Amino acid sequence: MGTSIDTKQFIACEQCDALYEKPDLIQGQRAKCVRCGNIMAERKVDSIERSFNWSLAGILLLLPAILLPIMGVTLAGQYHHASLLDCIVALIERGFLMIAILVFLFAIAVPVVRLFGAFYITYTFKFNKLKPSLLPFFKAFHHLDSWAMLNVFMLGIVVSMYKLLDDTELSVNMGLLAFILWLISSTMAAIALDQDYIWQRLEDEFVN
Ligand SMILES: [Zn+2]
Repeated sequence: MGTSIDTKQFIACEQCDALYEKPDLIQGQRAKCVRCGNIMAERKVDSIERSFNWSLAGILLLLPAILLPIMGVTLAGQYHHASLLDCIVALIERGFLMIAILVFLFAIAVPVVRLFGAFYITYTFKFNKLKPSLLPFFKAFHHLDSWAMLNVFMLGIVVSMYKLLDDTELSVNMGLLAFILWLISSTMAAIALDQDYIWQRLEDEFVN
């Protein structure tokens, strides 16, 4: 909207600082720096649709991932199943409160917020329900991105803690499969999301 001179934006190459007019990319197109060949921008194909589907899958997998047993442990001759929540409770009972809090935050809370965030954003785009409040919402969502991969490390910590604490035979259960699929879904939902496109649409719509 408006005159083209007022709204014209520039894009700088991160590698060599060359300055360009911001290109209008169509799906699947990339903007390459003429000077150094760096890819400066990319319009992902079917970004909204794909991110919507992955986040929906992630939301459906949420409860199985948290509540199904991720491990089987044999304690004093008895076989127990432990879900991710059980592991967190066990950590608290043994006095590892800080680790329990970290595991809860990064293995459950942050990914859940990101998943529902991605779902909400792609839902509003998919069904044309854009509103001004999406701008601050997306800004906050964007910040969570830096924490994206921590849940994988957290899962590793849970498993190794349990093993250290109990010195037992471990077996892998359905819950772990659900948890891994859940991790893949939430990671793919984030990768498929074209943040440039979303910024641009929101700015075109509400900033002026
Ligand atoms: Zn360059």
